Amino acid sequence: MSEAAQVDMDRVDVAIVGGGLVGASFAAALAPLIASHGLRVAVIEANRLAIGGAQPSFDERSSAIALGSRRHFETLGLWSALAPRAAAIRDIDVSQRGALGRARLSHRDVGTEALGHVLPNALLGEVLHRRLAELPLDWRCPARVEAIAPQARGYRLQLDDGSRLEADLTVLADGGRSPLKRLLGIETRHHDYRQHALIANVETARDHQGCAFERFTADGALALLPQAERRMALVWSRAPQRLEVVRGLDDDAFLDALQREFGTRLGRFLRVGSRHVYPLALSRAREQSRPHLAVLGNAAHAIHPVAGQGFNLALRGVMDLAAAVETALQAGRTPGEAATLADFERRRGDDRDLIVQASDALVRLFDLRLPGAAGARGAALGLFNLATPLKRSLVRRAMGLERRAGVD
Ligand SMILES: Cc1cc2nc3c(=O)[nH]c(=O)nc-3n(C[C@H](O)[C@H](O)[C@H](O)COP(=O)(O)OP(=O)(O)OC[C@H]3O[C@@H](n4cnc5c(N)ncnc54)[C@H](O)[C@@H]3O)c2cc1C
Repeated sequence: MSEAAQVDMDRVDVAIVGGGLVGASFAAALAPLIASHGLRVAVIEANRLAIGGAQPSFDERSSAIALGSRRHFETLGLWSALAPRAAAIRDIDVSQRGALGRARLSHRDVGTEALGHVLPNALLGEVLHRRLAELPLDWRCPARVEAIAPQARGYRLQLDDGSRLEADLTVLADGGRSPLKRLLGIETRHHDYRQHALIANVETARDHQGCAFERFTADGALALLPQAERRMALVWSRAPQRLEVVRGLDDDAFLDALQREFGTRLGRFLRVGSRHVYPLALSRAREQSRPHLAVLGNAAHAIHPVAGQGFNLALRGVMDLAAAVETALQAGRTPGEAATLADFERRRGDDRDLIVQASDALVRLFDLRLPGAAGARGAALGLFNLATPLKRSLVRRAMGLERRAGVD
């Protein structure tokens, strides 16, 4: 961020705690209001920006970006910078290892050119932070918010560099751990899946032709997302001890193990890049907002990555909060007033509950090891494959194109 873009201020309209994927997206969504209403925005990020480095949002992962999210990035004026490296997902193939039943979701089911796209997180971070560098933000990085306390007109934040900041609206986008939530007494429901996810980029002998694969196995799930040429982003989730075993294998043995789990639909797995492991849990804050406060992204909900929905859901929250702030400013209200946060909650509707429940149900369904469960799942997948209207509705919802049943 250039010196010229820095604005020195101790009281701001909006303070965003966390400049990861979600906090940075929210700051970018406020850009038109900074220009039109002179909205004063601060972003506080604890990690020195290391795109592609240790920062959780911008590591070596790739994210499946639903078509609805692509439209949000278009609205934010960022899609043209992302598009050259976005790989289209045209179809999704869902199967289970060692049992019958398969479902195929296609862009043709919903009449769009793609179901979504795959983007490297590092690119998302780079494009978002380049945008933020153009805005007159109070950008504090590296700086960590250590304490938060309610005031008459907002919240006061204590930073670890000794400075303080007061904000009319404070947005917690500080990720899954969020000690600040705890300081505020916002309870979080937490369920440990007792699974970790290993991510790596792999190369296959056969072209994926824009197809993403979800394969449920006896002890977890494998997702392969299409990337450029014959490369795919692997997300392999299973029990931590079993995952450690495959993580420790040399490349050839790892590729063999992957081949056994996935089969030969893409020919042989030829190469694998560096491997990284993430613990998986479901967590959900019991409150998404209070007057003068909103919670976004992983701080509000962290879900299993099996269906690639976490960031997509978070981005809808980002856009809803930005829209509520815009409406407030137009009506002469402040961003943090109770009515603004009530408007945010109304816009969110049941989106969060439904996506959290659906992703959890998917994990549990495929985690069942009861006798006959595999056959029942196979039948369910087969039926689902035939039930075109249900399939269309679910696909549109997962793409972020449908917020309520039957409503665009
Ligand atoms: C293996 C895996 C694969 C995934 N794949 C997909 C996918 O395909 N599609 C999809 O939609 N989603 C996916 N997700 C989910 C997605 O990655 C998350 O939704 C997203 O990273 C959440 O971003 P965030 O900004 O909320 O949190 P984070 O990325 O954790 O960022 C929080 C930021 O806040 C900063 N911070 C924390 N505390 C403070 C503080 N006190 N003061 C200042 N700064 C602070 C941190 O430094 C960090 O930069 C996946 C997740 C995993 C684990």
